[in-house]
Amino acid sequence: WLRELNKFAQERLAPFVSKMDENSHMDPEVIKSLFEQGLMGVEIDPEYGGTGSTFFSSILVIEELAKVDASVAVLCDIQNTLINTLFTKLGTAAQKERYLSRLSTDMVGSFCLSEAESGSDAFSLKTRADKHGDYYVINGSKMWISNAEQAGVFLVMANVDPSAGHRGITCFIVDRDTEGLQIGKKENKLGLRASSTCPLNLDNIKVPEKNILGQAGHGYKYAIGMLNEGRIGIAAQMLGLAQGCFDQAVPYTRQRVQFGKRIFDFQAMQHQIAHVATQIEAARLLTYNAARLKEAGRPFIKEACMAKYFTSEVATLTTSKCIEWMGGVGFTKDYPIEKYYRDCKIGTIYEGTTNIQLSTMAKFIDKEYDH
Ligand SMILES: Cc1cc2nc3c(=O)[nH]c(=O)nc-3n(C[C@H](O)[C@H](O)[C@H](O)COP(=O)(O)OP(=O)(O)OC[C@H]3O[C@@H](n4cnc5c(N)ncnc54)[C@H](O)[C@@H]3O)c2cc1C
Repeated sequence: WLRELNKFAQERLAPFVSKMDENSHMDPEVIKSLFEQGLMGVEIDPEYGGTGSTFFSSILVIEELAKVDASVAVLCDIQNTLINTLFTKLGTAAQKERYLSRLSTDMVGSFCLSEAESGSDAFSLKTRADKHGDYYVINGSKMWISNAEQAGVFLVMANVDPSAGHRGITCFIVDRDTEGLQIGKKENKLGLRASSTCPLNLDNIKVPEKNILGQAGHGYKYAIGMLNEGRIGIAAQMLGLAQGCFDQAVPYTRQRVQFGKRIFDFQAMQHQIAHVATQIEAARLLTYNAARLKEAGRPFIKEACMAKYFTSEVATLTTSKCIEWMGGVGFTKDYPIEKYYRDCKIGTIYEGTTNIQLSTMAKFIDKEYDH
């Protein structure tokens, strides 16, 4: 099925990629085709119209899509690793029936944690939810919300009891048409341009108590749990991006002739190409290992951080080298390499910056030496 997926990406995504980047807009046809192929509900139970496959399959899907377009990959990544998993793990029967059946077939979801004042320090968020009888009134704002332009449902982290600190954070299911929910102007970004990133304004929005996902006050635990898993998805995105870029640049070096021979034949070029190929392979092994551990129910958080950290470094190295290997044309928009170079930068920022990954790893390493 990976070959089928590769064919799908080449035939149904690749023709749109450059235009979508230029226009900062994801073509609705592309999103429709992802749903049709079952790629938006990889792990969702077939009972709800999902594909009923595994976490590892989601990782392979994200990697494969990212070879062609990192924006499409992150749409699929957030849906599968964050939104669908939260509903599957925590949803009531009614919530699952209502949302999983749409998330697998035609509805995009957004994960809303970050705010202007709370990024790495995510749980200092200020959005609050006040209880009035059987509903909550939410006030605040969110920032950097991926896929907000397309989303039909938003999972919003808000604090129901600021005096309890992060133990007041609660996950609310907010429908797009909720009165008072305003989706702001999308960011004009360096890369990942086809993926919409928008602020949200929540002005006295009324959300019924039955729209709490899981338990009130447990949003912190859920968000951190999801992001730990989600990091493996971002690692897969960066891995696919690096591989996709490499696959486009190396054939060029095998055709381009200077000084009477292929530029690939210069030893200085061969050593760089072999070095980058090794880095990509190492990134793949770290990513698959983290996915394997997660799927086996084994501890995986340190390994997930390592995978996300390392793959984003490798993507940065690969895309930069690929531009150099192609010389002047690599620097132009006539080839897709410069887009990979722009798209990869986000890997060191979202779902925990590189510093946050390193700090989390260090906590685990410190503990490992406790006797
Ligand atoms: C394109 C894009 C899409 C996004 N999508 C989503 C989304 O869908 N949902 C969502 O909720 N959020 C999303 N985010 C937000 C993203 O997760 C945050 O941008 C990220 O967590 C960093 O937060 P910040 O931007 O406030 O940076 P800051 O936290 O201000 O960090 C700035 C710098 O300070 C460093 N720093 C901060 N704290 C420490 C520390 N303790 N130790 C060492 N260094 C530190 C960081 O590593 C970084 O280098 C997205 C962001 C972008 C750009």
